[in-house]
Amino acid sequence: MSSDTPAQSTVDSTEPPAGESESALATARRQLTRAASLVDVDPNVVERFLHPDAVHEVTVPIERDDGSVEVFRGFRAQHDSVRGPYKGGIRFHPEVSREESIGLAMWMTWKCAVMDIPFGGAKGGVVVDPKQLSDDERERLTRRFTDEIRNVIGPTTDIPAPDMGTDAETMSWMMDAYSMQEAETIPGVVTGKPPVIGGSEGRAEAPGRSVAIVTREVAEYYDTPLSEATVAVQGFGSVGANAARLLDDWGASVVAVSDVTGAAYDPDGLDTRSIPSHEERPEAVAAHADRTVTNDELLGLDVDVLVPAAVGNAITEANVSDVRADIVVEGANGPVSFAADEILADRGVPVVPDILANAGGVTVSYFEWLQDINRRSWSAERVNEELETEMLAAFEAVTDEFEAGDVTWRDAAYAVALSRIAEAHEARGLWP
Ligand code: GLU
Repeated sequence: MSSDTPAQSTVDSTEPPAGESESALATARRQLTRAASLVDVDPNVVERFLHPDAVHEVTVPIERDDGSVEVFRGFRAQHDSVRGPYKGGIRFHPEVSREESIGLAMWMTWKCAVMDIPFGGAKGGVVVDPKQLSDDERERLTRRFTDEIRNVIGPTTDIPAPDMGTDAETMSWMMDAYSMQEAETIPGVVTGKPPVIGGSEGRAEAPGRSVAIVTREVAEYYDTPLSEATVAVQGFGSVGANAARLLDDWGASVVAVSDVTGAAYDPDGLDTRSIPSHEERPEAVAAHADRTVTNDELLGLDVDVLVPAAVGNAITEANVSDVRADIVVEGANGPVSFAADEILADRGVPVVPDILANAGGVTVSYFEWLQDINRRSWSAERVNEELETEMLAAFEAVTDEFEAGDVTWRDAAYAVALSRIAEAHEARGLWP
């Protein structure tokens, strides 16, 4: 890379976290700073990457079913768009914040670049517990939020998708609200829609499928074929349940899966299809288990692969010493804190990062966007075949970086992403 003059960083991202509830933004900045110090990348470009291009904050008033008005806060953080339109999910969650949205948007930038798809990174959401809203209230909230961010999203500018607390139905309402105001049907403004209105086959299970593919590849890399591997999966939502079931189908022994009620456990391997996923029946895992353990005990199981696929900061400095798995594959976004990540690296436990492992979601979002532009749908077989091809290509690119230097899998994924994005910035230049 070109510059000899490091930019003066305006962000202190070198200090270890003061507490364990570090924000997604703090973690994302520390990861970037660490990776940038290990790979050959222009420091001036890195300084730009520490900051989002824009953060939009909106007020979202809705009428509750009882006739009262409640005012919510919403965000859309747009991190970088040098390689294409901003792309990333919308969360409905009580912990949504400006900082979290920026951190998650940064991860989307890297995720799209690791997969080599022509999108940048964004993330957003509304500070709300969707479980406290009726279906009608959720619809009104979604439509009003969409209208509030209407000027900053669009099929060629910024394309939302589902994330925690949102789903295909939410995307239908977003697409409809946007399209009504534009006076034409614009399916490409969001991805993760139901197939009947331009969604893609295989999109809902894609993040879990990519976690399963990456688990298979990394287990084989460390000489453990899936048929001999034991796996524990924390979280039985769209990522965890699909990953667990595919790994089960492919011959792995899935010994534990969990939701907030606890974990189903069977050392001989669970029948993962007999346990309802969050979509099928929320919070029903423990009730459908013959034998249960706690979520903490699940994280401490002596398995070949541990897949934290529930929430951010599941593995922190406080509990990382309990982790006995040989390999960790990140199903959720940011499930391993920066400090815990460094401890696992020191112990020689490979951690395959979220920006590779769960990137199947945004990859099939890209396929969906292509289908919308072309007004032509792909079969589930084609989606899954192309996803497999893309995942293997990304895994290979990251493996090359991993083998080239004394770095972690996360650093290697950052190296792939940073070099692609920095090259694009260099080619386009800084305007004016
Ligand atoms: N929310 C998903 C993620 O974190 C998908 C984003 C997308 O498809 O745009 O990767």
